[in-house]
Amino acid sequence: MAVTRRTSRDIRSESRLDVMHALLSAGAASRGELARATGLSTATVATVVSDLLSGGIVTEAGLTNGRVGRPTTTLRLNGDRGRIVGIDVAETYIRAVVFDAALDELASAEVAVDEHHGEADYVVARLARALEDALERAGAARDDVLGVGVSLPGGTQRPAEVSVVVPNAAWRHLDRLRERIGLPVVVDNPLKAIATAELWSGEGRRHSSMITLNLGTGVGAGIVLEGAILRGARNFAGEWGHSLLALDGRRCRCGRAGCVEAYVGAAGIQRTLAGIAPEHPLASEPMQREFIGALASALARPSPDPAVTETLERTARYLGAAIADLVAIVDPEMITLTGWTVWALGDHLVPAVRRRVVEEAPGDAAAELAIEVSTVRGNPVATGIATIALERFLGDMGLLTSRVPTAL
Ligand SMILES: [Zn+2]
Repeated sequence: MAVTRRTSRDIRSESRLDVMHALLSAGAASRGELARATGLSTATVATVVSDLLSGGIVTEAGLTNGRVGRPTTTLRLNGDRGRIVGIDVAETYIRAVVFDAALDELASAEVAVDEHHGEADYVVARLARALEDALERAGAARDDVLGVGVSLPGGTQRPAEVSVVVPNAAWRHLDRLRERIGLPVVVDNPLKAIATAELWSGEGRRHSSMITLNLGTGVGAGIVLEGAILRGARNFAGEWGHSLLALDGRRCRCGRAGCVEAYVGAAGIQRTLAGIAPEHPLASEPMQREFIGALASALARPSPDPAVTETLERTARYLGAAIADLVAIVDPEMITLTGWTVWALGDHLVPAVRRRVVEEAPGDAAAELAIEVSTVRGNPVATGIATIALERFLGDMGLLTSRVPTAL
């Protein structure tokens, strides 16, 4: 195993992250509480807090009377330090969310994107529109913006075969994107965004190895391995949706056959229903989100129709098998599920998936594995990409050693 050299600067950076994470989850805390929450010494906490106070990242929230003796100062993240924007560029919409510097959501705006209209200029113009609308709704001036994170789906699709060319076009024209936005921009893909959201605002900090799965039109995995996000050589790690579930299986929109996404992406779930009951009214619902919503309503009925129940069972079986492969490779402590399919179907899907993963994983690999719906609120891609922009800002201030590849 390669030895990673950790400099004292890295360690100081990690301690600052620990303190910021503790403040993010507690809201407000005293230095003593921060020491207890992070396991850092009181001396280290004092140094870190002083660094963060002088950078304006943390502020004194007030005095509280302790049980004994003199009052103690409570600290919190300084939301007024500035504004951070997270922009989720998806296949059919672009959503911009404005956060304060404590990662509290202030306002958002969404613009529709025509997926058949994929030129970079069009995407960049729509993105700029979403950003301006969101800033206006938040009452934020451009001067207040510390950073803008843009999440673009990554390039596993082969251009000749895809209907979805929006992200690829935009990836090739990042200079134009930066120029149009005219603010500090960091670009990353949604899998890295959801993993970052999990690390800062979800379960990630409590586990050294974990996976967060995004289930919607596409599916993918944000992987945290020994505390760090797994990126891979070209930042494409986690494209689990295009790993193989069935040899010679269903055609996937990436051009290959048998991908996980062709079974557990929203369109894949609909194909499963159409296979069970071709005449079922839900099998011809043209909109994916409406289909998933209608499936959830059908499952919630006192006696759901058998085709719907069978669709859920098969989907759980596909997901369970595909997750078991991830478990065999990564050996995570926890898996969280996110994305609009999960928010709609989670109550029905998650218990069934849990059972399947335990059955399918090698030996008792999944016996202790926790599988839960993510606790990250709101749009996890926008939250995560905004968090990456905040990390970049803190890196530029010299408070964090950067975790984001500088090319992005
Ligand atoms: Zn595929």
